[in-house]
Amino acid sequence: MPRPSDPVLQRVACPRFTGALPSRGDRVGTGIAMADSCGDVIQVQVQIGSDVSIAAARHKTYGCGQAIGAAEMVCELVEGRTVAEARLLDAETVARKLKTTDLHAVRVAVSALLLALDATSGQ
Ligand SMILES: [Zn+2]
Repeated sequence: MPRPSDPVLQRVACPRFTGALPSRGDRVGTGIAMADSCGDVIQVQVQIGSDVSIAAARHKTYGCGQAIGAAEMVCELVEGRTVAEARLLDAETVARKLKTTDLHAVRVAVSALLLALDATSGQ
């Protein structure tokens, strides 16, 4: 098994986006996705601000280091962006930022993000 990339290791050592967002009275959407291959489970939550931008993004990840790195990077990349911009985020972009070619966990993190964004619409 290859050594994780430095950006992945940094995020495993010092995660900045773990946790949950308060859901009561706020526009918070939650998405949960799982990897069939290794069982990684990633929950992503996004809070939409008074405009259409993402005021906060948080994750809870049960899985391998790649999964934690991927969830951290997804939250990092979408916080402050608009919902429309966040919907364009793809696994290849996240993997490039993480300097990894391992897409399994990145795909789970992006799926969880999209589900969270879907869950905010209509609120
Ligand atoms: Zn994994």
